[in-house]
Amino acid sequence: MKRRISTPLRIGEVAIGGNAPIAVQSMAKTDTRDIPATINQIKELEECGCEIVRLAIPDKEAVESISAIKKSVSLPLVADIHFDYRLALTALESGVDGLRLNPGTIRDRKQIARVVAAARERGIPIRIGVNAGSLPLDFEPAIPLADRMVDMAVEQTKFMENMDFNLIKVSLKAFDVPTTIRAYQMIADKIPYPLHLGITEAGLPQAGAIRSAIGIGVLLYQGIGDTIRVSLSAHPCEEISAAYEILKSLGLRQRGPTLVSCPSCGRAEVDVIALAEAVDKYLRKVSKPIRVAVMGCMVNGPGEAKDADVGIACGKGKGAIFRKGKVIKTVSEESLLKVLIAEIKKIA
Ligand code: SF4
Repeated sequence: MKRRISTPLRIGEVAIGGNAPIAVQSMAKTDTRDIPATINQIKELEECGCEIVRLAIPDKEAVESISAIKKSVSLPLVADIHFDYRLALTALESGVDGLRLNPGTIRDRKQIARVVAAARERGIPIRIGVNAGSLPLDFEPAIPLADRMVDMAVEQTKFMENMDFNLIKVSLKAFDVPTTIRAYQMIADKIPYPLHLGITEAGLPQAGAIRSAIGIGVLLYQGIGDTIRVSLSAHPCEEISAAYEILKSLGLRQRGPTLVSCPSCGRAEVDVIALAEAVDKYLRKVSKPIRVAVMGCMVNGPGEAKDADVGIACGKGKGAIFRKGKVIKTVSEESLLKVLIAEIKKIA
């Protein structure tokens, strides 16, 4: 997998682009004006592995909350601004680590120029966050949506470059996966800046994670992308775990354990699904990147999961505990979970 090497920048302490690891982002889902709730959510996000948090800044009260929030959290904060450029100026004064501007919702060049000048003065990056839903309506119908998104982002990057500003990151999000993929593929060859990947409004956890995994996964596999966000109608920590699953699946990042579990079939003599769910629940407390397998039978179990650091293969009334494909002990069915957890503890 050959990676597109983009111009490096930093959002707070987090390195983006260049050879830096692909960073995982999310967005607080609290009302930014509710300072304690927002601080709590950012802390939860930090615990579950988020590296950059975006905050919605809809009004003056929200932007005035940034300083207090910033003092109580350590993750870098990005202020998400639409319509009112003055909120971006105040956010910069409040110490945000990055801005996200939607070129579809702030169109006035003089206003954008004021924000860019203030960001340049402070060395704060701006994400040009193009969203398919907020493109101008006065377009040539023959031009495909992906092209229009790219045109808008390229036009905005040129405007910023002309102001001697290059702390730029770009995103081109749409709900439609092929449109999103096409847009990122096109822009990857046109600009040198880091790209933030996401499928917008992807949906509830299951469908949303699949849509995002396909869209983000295809691009990452082609070497495109520097930061990612999985947008889900769910608690933001679910976005983070989905994002890491995508990165782990492609071997791009390692964080926390990976559960290998068989789908179960007529050969299984125990309830594999319930057992896998119980193991998964336990693994959420483990941070070490280990591989744990739950297999329904001895026929295929240890062999198919031979890469697992530890695993169980179930049999009639009993099961085998194996490590790297080698059976190390046989235990009763009732003790399987307990013994597996004890083995996981030894490793982790
Ligand atoms: Fe079936 Fe055994 Fe394969 Fe599980 S590991 S799906 S029980 S054959």
